[in-house]
Formats: sequence, C-alpha cells, structure tokens
Amino acid sequence: MIKPSTSNILKIIFSCLMLIAFSFNAISQVKAMPEKKVQELKKELTIEIEKRKVFTQQMVDMIFSFGELGFQEFETSKYITGILKENGFTIKEGISGIPTAWTATWGNGKPVIAIGSDLDCIPKASQKPGVAFHDPIIPGAPGHGEGHNSGQAVNVTAVLALKAIMEREKIPGTLMLWPGVAEEQLATKAFYIRDGFFKDVDACLFTHVWDNLGTSYGQPGFFNGMVSVKFNFEGESAHSAGAPWRGKSALDAVELMNIGWNFRREHLNPTQRSHYVITDGGDQPNVVPSKASVWYYFRDRDYPSIMSMYEKALKTAEGAALMTGTTVTPRYMGSAWPPHFNKVLAETMYENIKTVPLPQWTEADQTLAKALQKEVGAETSGLISKIPELKEPEKFSLGGGSDDIADISWAIPTIVMMFPSNIPGLQGHHWSNAVAMATPIAHKGATTGAKAMGMTMLDLLVKPEILKNSWSYYKDVQTKNTTYKPFLNKDDKPAIELNQEIMAEFRPEMKKYYYDPSKYKTYMEQLGIKYPTLKPETEKSTGGLK
Ligand SMILES: [Zn+2]
Repeated sequence: MIKPSTSNILKIIFSCLMLIAFSFNAISQVKAMPEKKVQELKKELTIEIEKRKVFTQQMVDMIFSFGELGFQEFETSKYITGILKENGFTIKEGISGIPTAWTATWGNGKPVIAIGSDLDCIPKASQKPGVAFHDPIIPGAPGHGEGHNSGQAVNVTAVLALKAIMEREKIPGTLMLWPGVAEEQLATKAFYIRDGFFKDVDACLFTHVWDNLGTSYGQPGFFNGMVSVKFNFEGESAHSAGAPWRGKSALDAVELMNIGWNFRREHLNPTQRSHYVITDGGDQPNVVPSKASVWYYFRDRDYPSIMSMYEKALKTAEGAALMTGTTVTPRYMGSAWPPHFNKVLAETMYENIKTVPLPQWTEADQTLAKALQKEVGAETSGLISKIPELKEPEKFSLGGGSDDIADISWAIPTIVMMFPSNIPGLQGHHWSNAVAMATPIAHKGATTGAKAMGMTMLDLLVKPEILKNSWSYYKDVQTKNTTYKPFLNKDDKPAIELNQEIMAEFRPEMKKYYYDPSKYKTYMEQLGIKYPTLKPETEKSTGGLK
C-alpha cells in the first residue's frame, strides 16, 4: 500500500467533509410539502393500500407456504425480488456474499429510505393455519412459527402504493427494500453494515410481526444484544472398546464446557441469558468422537457485559480442551448489538399509527385466537383492539430476545414498526405462532401495517425536517456516549451453510404444498381448512407442551 502524504490526507478529509455537507444539503434542499397536501396524499395512500389487500394476502400466504429456514430463503427471495423487478426496481443479488440476500432500489436522489423485514422461519414449526391445536402440514418440517412471512408483504404493499403517488407527484427520493436473512441466527445485518450497503441511506424503517400496531425508541426492555459462537472441538478417534485410552474425545470437551458454563451461570449478571445446542456430538458410540461442536448464544443488556461473558466462555472452552487433550476453534456465527431506536422516527410513526384503525376482528378470528390461547395455557383474552402508548424505554429490564436490526440502528436512524398479524400470549418460536399467520388475522394485520408504513415513508420524503431532526437525535443523544464496535471482524464470513441439510430433507415434500393463487383464493382454501378449526371436545389440552 502506498503511504498517503499529509497533503493528500488533508485533501481526502476535505473531500469527505464536502461529501457529508453535500449529502445533508441534498436532504435539506427537499422542499417541505404543504401539510394539507400531505394529508390528502396520506388519505389516498391508505385507500390504495386497502385496494391491494388481495395482493397483500397472497404475499403473506405464499411466503408462509415456502417455510424456509435462515440462509435458505431461496424461493422467498426469488418471489419477492420477482415482484419488485416487475415493478421497476433494480435488484442487486447476493449482497455480502449471502446467496439469499438482496437490495431492490427504485427512485432517484435523496432522501434514501431503507425498508426491511425478515424472511426466515423456525425449525419443526410446520403448522396448518387456522387450526387451534398442533397439526403440522408436514411433521418435523420447518414453518413460520414466528410470523416472518408477513413483514415483506407489509413493505412491498406500502412501497408499491407509495411509488405510484411519487411518480405522479414527482416526489424525489429513493426507496431501498432489503431482507433480514437468517434473522433467527442474528447472522446477516451486521455484515450489511460492515460491507457498506447502508452507507448512503438516510433512515431505515423496519417491520416485524406482533399482536398489535406499535413502535418504540431507545432500547426496549425486551431487547438484548447478543453474540453467537460455535465452539468446534477436535480430538482423536479410537475404537471405543478396543483402545479407548488412545482416543481424545471432542464430545467430552463439549460436555465439560457445558458443565463449566452451567456452574458459571450463578456468577453472571442477573440480566444475562445464554443457551446452547450440541450441533455435533459424534457419529456412533464405538468411535471416540474426534469432532464435536456446541453452539452458544450469549445475551445481555449492553456491549461490555456481552463481551465479558464471551471472554469467560472462551476460557471455559479452553479449559475443556485442556482437560481432554483436544483443541478448540471458536467460530463467529452471528451477533446483534443492544439496539437504540430513533425517537424522532418513532414519534413520526406513532402519529400515523394513531390514525390507522386496528383490523375489524370477526367472530371467527376471535374464536381461533381464544381457542389457541387456551390450548397453550395463555390468558384467553382474544385479539387486541387498542394500540399501546409510545413510552419511554424502561430504565432497568431483565431483557429478552435480540434482533440484528440493532446493528443497522447504530449506523443510521432506525425504527421497528410492529403490526397486528399474530395472536397475543403465545410463547414464540413454536407451532402456535404459525397458526394465525396465513389467516384473515395475518392478512388484515399486514394491510393495517402497510398503511402506517406508507404514511411514514411519505412523511420522510416530503418533510425534510424529520430526517434532519432524526440525525440530530442520532448524533446528540444516541451516539453521544456510546460508540458502536461491531462484534464481527473484517474477516468473519456469514454462516451460509446453515440449514442446508434440513431444507434438503424437507423441501421436496414441502414443494407439494406451495401456495397456488391461480387456483385458490387463499392458502387455507388450498389446504381444505375450515376457518377456524377447533380441537374436538374429547381431546385433552396439553397446554402446548408435548
Ligand atoms: Zn423475528
């Protein structure tokens, strides 16, 4: 590498400053649209989104029927990018070296708004939609036991309705749709940031399924940061009966690491959450396992606590290797920073949310919801009819799950809009979370979400002060005392090999159940499901735990 001279460095710094100044000017040069006109366009937008409800329903049902696990979202990505391409979007495939990741861009100039949602599903969560008890489409197959089949339908519907208005009204701006690939593994969004796919973006609006319509700012109480690491142990095989003294068991190392970690738990922060699965425990009992792997998620509220936990885990793994004469190689699998969502964007979104009525739930929707809640031992409260308040984030929380949208939130002003496509009180990552996801509950919830999204996107395009204020919040509040240091290194690679074998096992059978909207109005119709289907009285409830 040629060492740059001081004057060259000054030139580079100067041109960078000019570039930043230019891009801020470019945003602020967008002229604010008169409020009356904005309100008229918002009204038109919600009517146009409502008109697209069959399109939205078909997208929700189609992605549900693909049921693809993280990094294997091939059908899903082909389907969504196909729709976007037909509508004039420019598709960039395979971003960050991830075969199922893409960006789809349309429009011109500033501002650039990124619009994202996840794609992947949950192992063993196959479930017939509209059926209030465990009844898989294919036993053991993956399924949308979280509801990631609905978010892209929300976004694509909103964007296509908005695009028509932007064209007619000559509203400048660029829309960039993108997918959360392998969100369940927290395995891609930090790569998108590292690889610069959001460097020209002014704001990011993300959608995620929930049982209500809402948004949040700061670090919500249920959101932890996380690092995910696989510990690959290697020893030496031998005949387990003939010459076990010549073997070095990698499985012993995995077991000792887990025992060590489980003793360590007592002395960790009460806010930590860590969990593991043994992904490789050897091949057969009469061969001393020369290879074994255990995959951990380490979660806590803040970056230093997560790193401290990870360092303890590394020591535990090294100790296990020492005890067994094996070696250990940790592999980065994914991560998510503790998030910080933008207050200005959240307030803008919330103003729109307040104007969107929640779906009209029918008797059949409520009957399904209550029967399912009863089945899994939840409060039988049915579906929600009131939006939550936009509140200050809790000062203290014991935390919960994670989402790598957090890494995007540290690069640009970002919020997550939750929309009401699922049933309250379910345990998550479970067949029950798939029950509503290709029924009128999910369909109506997605249309509702698209309205709030469409209106907020319009606000960002025609009211330049929102983006200006959201960047002020980002600089003066969010990043004032916190600096983002990614968990991943420049050489880390996405774990794109994940879930290949599971999909290879189930895909041929699953293909027979892909949704065909040319023959059936809905996926439930295709599967011959009566809505809702309740459990016959004689069967006893298992409380969802089998
Ligand atoms: Zn999710």
